Amino acid sequence: IRAVPDALLIIGKDDRIEIANETAREIFRGGDASGDLVGLYYYEVVRSPQLYSLIDRARETGEPVAEELRVELPEERFYRVMISPLRFGEKGDSAVVLFHDTTQIRMLERMRTDFVANVSHEIKTPVTAIKGFAETLLDGAIDDRDNAIHFLRTIQKNSERLNRLVEDLLMLSRVELGEIQIMKEEVAAGDIFEHVRETLSERAAARGLDFRVSLPEGDSRFMADRNRTIQIFLNLAENAIKFTESGSVELGVERGYDRIILYVRDTGIGIPGDLISRLGERFFRVDPSRSRELGGTGLGLAIVKHLLRAQGWDMEIRSEEGKGTEVRVVIPNVTRK
Ligand code: ADP
Repeated sequence: IRAVPDALLIIGKDDRIEIANETAREIFRGGDASGDLVGLYYYEVVRSPQLYSLIDRARETGEPVAEELRVELPEERFYRVMISPLRFGEKGDSAVVLFHDTTQIRMLERMRTDFVANVSHEIKTPVTAIKGFAETLLDGAIDDRDNAIHFLRTIQKNSERLNRLVEDLLMLSRVELGEIQIMKEEVAAGDIFEHVRETLSERAAARGLDFRVSLPEGDSRFMADRNRTIQIFLNLAENAIKFTESGSVELGVERGYDRIILYVRDTGIGIPGDLISRLGERFFRVDPSRSRELGGTGLGLAIVKHLLRAQGWDMEIRSEEGKGTEVRVVIPNVTRK
């Protein structure tokens, strides 16, 4: 009984617990494994009317029963509960109750359902716009040239949006499935940042931002998948530009004893403190309509997080609302040369 990883209780005829294994003590005594459950009434220990009726049923029929049970301990948990009468076929006798923890499976299922709902919602908006404007054009608006061009532009904008969404989803699924091969070679921070600067400096200038790269003396080298690393910093720098109204975006390096930190720092709108930990969740945005307006899909940071993890790196986000944000990519095990 002690070796059973699931929580196990044996309940006597008088409804008192006769045997409880360690897992049961941990779960139902809120982590205090010392508090024994033996001698207590089972309904004092697990407060769940569903469980009471299951136990009654097993006792009345003398047959084993199993069901999924939701309990609050006080946090929500799910168990697959199996109850067998101790002596098969005898009614009203002792029963063995086994609790198999299915909380994680349930949470994953919930995440999957949420994800499907989110994707459908994200796709629906541009599709509705494309459909609507195409119909309007076919219904005669095509002959009104100025308006027709405006409608076509809207169709174009929304199809681009759909395209970005599909591309990000494909990318995300490829990294999540582990289909993306990480090929590490020695790279220089200066080289990565130069690439990002070339791609984005025009966009930053168009928004009147000072876009700069600051490197410490002597180049900082580390092992990385070059293209994926460029992709990470393009994403981070793009966000910095998008969410900064005025001031600067800076790409830089901090060298520690055995690690390197590459950061993207901006003087933008910042992120409310209580939401920082949620960044990187798929489709999580501080301000969804603003993100969409700026062409975002809400998947950028989720992709970044996976690309970092695939290389064994971490991300830290420091931010202050109205002041700015600093996203720090921590690359461990870099020895100084
Ligand atoms: P997107 O940029 O497409 O909305 P991301 O996954 O890249 O999606 O980012 C998620 C959210 O995180 C953004 O919508 C924004 O609210 C917030 N965010 C990311 N980077 C920054 C930043 N540098 N400054 C302020 N907010 C940011």
